[in-house]
Amino acid sequence: MANGTGGSKDPILVVGGGIGGLAAALRLSRSGHDVVVLEKAAQFVEIGAGLQLAPNATRVLTSLGLMDKIREVGVFPNRLRLKTALTDENLSYLDLGEGFIQRYGAPYVVMHRNDLLTILLQGCQEQPSIELLPGKEIREVENQPDGVIAVCADGTSYRGKALIGADGLWSTVRKKFSDDAPVNSGYVSYRGTVPTDRATAHAPLDEVVAWIGPNLHYVQYPLRSGNLYNQVAVFKSDQYLKGMEDWGNSEELEEKLSVTCEHIRTAMPLLGRDHRWPMYDREPIDKWTIGNITLLGDAAHPMLQYLAQGACQAIEDAEAIGMAFDREPKNVTEALAMYERARTIRTARVQRNARLWGDMWHIDGAGRLMRDELFKTRDPDDHSHIEWLYGKRDLLEVRP
Ligand SMILES: Cc1cc2nc3c(=O)[nH]c(=O)nc-3n(C[C@H](O)[C@H](O)[C@H](O)COP(=O)(O)OP(=O)(O)OC[C@H]3O[C@@H](n4cnc5c(N)ncnc54)[C@H](O)[C@@H]3O)c2cc1C
Repeated sequence: MANGTGGSKDPILVVGGGIGGLAAALRLSRSGHDVVVLEKAAQFVEIGAGLQLAPNATRVLTSLGLMDKIREVGVFPNRLRLKTALTDENLSYLDLGEGFIQRYGAPYVVMHRNDLLTILLQGCQEQPSIELLPGKEIREVENQPDGVIAVCADGTSYRGKALIGADGLWSTVRKKFSDDAPVNSGYVSYRGTVPTDRATAHAPLDEVVAWIGPNLHYVQYPLRSGNLYNQVAVFKSDQYLKGMEDWGNSEELEEKLSVTCEHIRTAMPLLGRDHRWPMYDREPIDKWTIGNITLLGDAAHPMLQYLAQGACQAIEDAEAIGMAFDREPKNVTEALAMYERARTIRTARVQRNARLWGDMWHIDGAGRLMRDELFKTRDPDDHSHIEWLYGKRDLLEVRP
């Protein structure tokens, strides 16, 4: 098994050029490492629509020097609001204004996910120490006595002093650590954008709003300096439970959301329907590093999107792995072990809370009435439920 190799001039190999992989490449290059990013797709691109970035991620993006570019295309909402999906009643909100920014040291941002990827990509392209290689599907990765090796589907192979598997939910690299499989939640998500002036019903343009209801929710917020409007519909599919192949199709979407309030029904005709995302996560694992090979982002800890933290945690990982290399410059194996010790505990808590948050959003019956009452009486200045997530912390500290 590989050991040490801290003094090696070999690059760090990053498998996967999504948000997590590119953020890690950029962070590691800032610490003086050469990095090679091996991406399966022919281009570095993100499909999908909006992305919410909480201050635990925007603090890292600020320290990477990307905030000016994010400011040009992102939106800085004033409030996160929860409403009921059936009756459009206000439940609670979180003020994201100056007090929030002071408290957490960075803003809450919403932006198009491809805008973030483009900013990360440009940041990487500006670094001579980062080599970006699209069209490279990794099939095998191995520790070697003097580092690591990655073998591609096209027969080429790459050597490095360390390898970071940032290859997403269906990770190939993860198979080295676990024989687990993604867990299908039975929920499906539709999302898309429209020009804001064409949106048939939108919430106040300085808010991110989630309408929550029994087995479904709907989210709206503006993107791209307010010119685009993002919409997401999520529902639990009965067709999935019945084992139907075409589960969660657009007819089922119409049927499930037909019970929602007028605002949602007016907004829905312009919701993107050409693609849908079945919602998966995995059980947390406590070991994702062997020798000089580790995982990052969805490959390590895929989560349901209800806390809007999957990309945020991948960005935290990028900072944490950079810090670990800074603290252990002479021993790659120990740097990765240090990264794993801190991140497995933190991200397991986020994964589990994402599920719980989904259960709370989608509950029905007496539970729903109790939840609504609790939210309605919540003090909007109460940060006790998010401090652990958004608050400043040493990302290598071993605590949840
Ligand atoms: C509906 C929805 C809404 C969401 N909303 C939010 C949100 O508001 N905020 C938030 O923080 N998160 C959100 N997320 C989660 C977020 O999108 C993901 O957590 C994040 O994109 C993960 O990034 P990643 O780089 O780890 O993985 P990915 O984005 O999956 O990137 C993996 C990359 O690896 C490449 N790859 C795969 N296999 C190989 C291989 N064998 N060899 C080489 N390359 C390979 C892929 O092509 C891809 O480019 C949401 C998710 C969903 C589904």
